[in-house]
Amino acid sequence: EEFNHEQTITDAGKRILKFLKEFHFQEKFIYRDQLKENVANNEYILRVEINDIENSDKELYSFILDRPQDIQETFEDKIKELYSQEKMINKSDCPDFQLQLISQQNPDLLRNLTAQQIGKLVTIKCIISASKSIKVKAKKLLIRCRECQDEQNINLGYGPKPVNLPRYCLGKAQQKGAQTDAQCPTDPYVIIPEECQFIDQQTLRIQELSEAIPTGEVPRNFMVYCDRYLVNKLIPGQRVIITGVYQVPPKGSATIKSNAMDTELLLPYIHVFGLQTNKVNIKQGLSEAQRQEFKSLSRNADVYKIITNSIAPAIYGHEDIKLAIACLLFGGTSKTLPDSMKLRGDINVLLIGDPSTAKSQLLKFVERAADISVYTSGKGSSAAGLTATITYQHNTSQFTLEAGALVLASGGVCCIDEFDKMRSEDRVAMHEAMEQQTISIAKAGITTRLNAKCSILAAANPIFGRYQENKSIQEQIELQTTILSRFDNIFIIRDVRSIENDQRLANHIISLHTGQFADQEGMQIEQDGNNTLDLMKLKQYIKYAKSTVKPLLTEQAAQMIQNLYVDDRQKSQQPHHSKSGGKSHIPITVRQLEAIIRISESLAKMQLLEHVKEEHVKEAHRLFQTSTMMAVSL
Ligand code: ADP
Ligand code: MG
Repeated sequence: EEFNHEQTITDAGKRILKFLKEFHFQEKFIYRDQLKENVANNEYILRVEINDIENSDKELYSFILDRPQDIQETFEDKIKELYSQEKMINKSDCPDFQLQLISQQNPDLLRNLTAQQIGKLVTIKCIISASKSIKVKAKKLLIRCRECQDEQNINLGYGPKPVNLPRYCLGKAQQKGAQTDAQCPTDPYVIIPEECQFIDQQTLRIQELSEAIPTGEVPRNFMVYCDRYLVNKLIPGQRVIITGVYQVPPKGSATIKSNAMDTELLLPYIHVFGLQTNKVNIKQGLSEAQRQEFKSLSRNADVYKIITNSIAPAIYGHEDIKLAIACLLFGGTSKTLPDSMKLRGDINVLLIGDPSTAKSQLLKFVERAADISVYTSGKGSSAAGLTATITYQHNTSQFTLEAGALVLASGGVCCIDEFDKMRSEDRVAMHEAMEQQTISIAKAGITTRLNAKCSILAAANPIFGRYQENKSIQEQIELQTTILSRFDNIFIIRDVRSIENDQRLANHIISLHTGQFADQEGMQIEQDGNNTLDLMKLKQYIKYAKSTVKPLLTEQAAQMIQNLYVDDRQKSQQPHHSKSGGKSHIPITVRQLEAIIRISESLAKMQLLEHVKEEHVKEAHRLFQTSTMMAVSL
């Protein structure tokens, strides 16, 4: 049995060397070339696409999928052999290489990993939710008997493995029949650090992509182990495809029980063999027919109306809010200035209002409509809150950097309910997160920065329960002006009592409840006889628009915005403009100017246009007047 196993590994080793030497594409030896190139760049690695092995040696491929852990050292040894042959040098003079495996097949979801896959090679799509500082781990130990100086080598491999030193001396003196009186004590061995071999090692926590989590379920998360060249490649918030071995920690592993975060290691973990960070958003191809359909939709004179009606169709009214939400979903155009300063294209919207005015419902809708989204409450559902936290564990002297909602929503929309109730730490970080779209943390001697490139849709409740007309916005909302001014659109939703309005709303809600739409899934409600897009179509259209156009202002549009801005500034500076006597309102600054530009861009995007025209600016300005300008002048 044992012998056989050795045989298979040896056989696999031969096949690996053959594959590495012979695999080619259009006269080019892919891996031989890559190896030379990597060494020239001082990277002692070889990145192997598992699919290349599949195409040239099916048996080897299934062997690797089945027993990746057993094959790792052999594989790395063969890379070394390949290098020694290429360079015509002795193998013992060659440096060590790291094998990295990547896969082109469709990645699995974390949720679908089962116990059957333990010990197997898996490829999964996930997001990094926390990272720890880098540790140094022993790979090869040299131990020496205190008494007789007997030396032993222990190979610990790359994964987490318990160190069990022999209780009794294994030296010659102790062997049966040895003619000696020397008696080594129990636990005779000590580790000789100078003679040991160490590797860099980092533990990260991965989480399911938020859009893959079924409603109401706790996101699944795992610890992953990276070593050597894979260390320091990932930061929280990053989306990644990981190829690695799905494993359970070995019994008695010293690293398991050391601290709170590590207790999760009792769960399975993934020993990372390879990472892919760029191709995570696999493009879904649209058929030519769909593309044509979208093109004709974009030319429809009622395109705004159709899109607005498709946003939360179960919610009655609120047309302007829905248009602003549509703008948020489509987004403006982000720019990088020559001095590498970045201007955000993401649009932030804030809804402030009376209770039960469908604020939470609108947020829930956006969570479903956006491709990447995170729904959270200002109070925060995790320790990391909205931004990020760093914690320090004394027993292991390790830092853990944990990503909050805005970091996890990078590249998408973060829906924050009860925004006014956010933690005070978040309040500080929010300023930077909303404008620069980064989060800087400085704590306990650690400074770092994370990306938070997302749009924010937030909802807040007034302090006094209901919005009061005779008070200014500051007096009613527990948010600083500096945060308020970072929203492109602020809507105040009031539950106005008018018989006509109440009747219509009641009618609408009752019709929702009476049978017709009882099964909410896939419902589609016709409003004003206009056609609407179902959620799937809407999502596809947004994706299509975002990937095809990046609208920029035309000269006329730019001139128009400039004039409007100057005008607004004039008006807002006049006394008695605000109900509270002009003493406290959100100042109209260049932030608001940028807001109008972004909204105009997104309106052009909805029509699949590369140029922002005057009509877009006009509509954007109208939207701005009915939202933020209304809010500040109340
Ligand atoms: P909020 O978060 O603003 O306090 P919710 O989103 O929880 O309010 O809404 C409360 C309820 O009232 C929900 O069931 C929602 O569907 C309903 N509702 C409120 N306004 C409307 C509306 N305009 N059209 C349809 N339903 C509404
Ligand atoms: Mg609510």
